[in-house]
Amino acid sequence: MARFEHLVEELLDFLMMRLDERDLERLVVHEPQRISAAYMFTEDGRCEVRVDRFTGCSACSQVPPEALFASPLHIDVEAWPCSPIRSLALAFFDDPDFRYWWRPEYAVFASGRLVHPVGEIEWPWGLVQG
Ligand SMILES: [Zn+2]
Repeated sequence: MARFEHLVEELLDFLMMRLDERDLERLVVHEPQRISAAYMFTEDGRCEVRVDRFTGCSACSQVPPEALFASPLHIDVEAWPCSPIRSLALAFFDDPDFRYWWRPEYAVFASGRLVHPVGEIEWPWGLVQG
């Protein structure tokens, strides 16, 4: 059974099969783990603290313990794969199994928003931006 989302497992497998020992050590520093972030839930006349769980890494996805985000859409904490992991993967960009959305410019926050401004992204040919 998969421990993480398919996207996470797929990139982990990809890296494990290709990285040398030195880069594997960098991977360990940015190993995916479940991260929790508290946010205010204000719908249906309710207002309560809820917890969003996402995959991040202990180096890049630090949530201050007292942090309370305004909503899940406000969680501006980098999700896995984080930028350093994407940079590691980029060394294999010409590998047929490399996925373009692993490129560093597609790094996203836990909110699902892109880390980098959309204008800086080179969208693959033919992919219409929604
Ligand atoms: Zn990281």
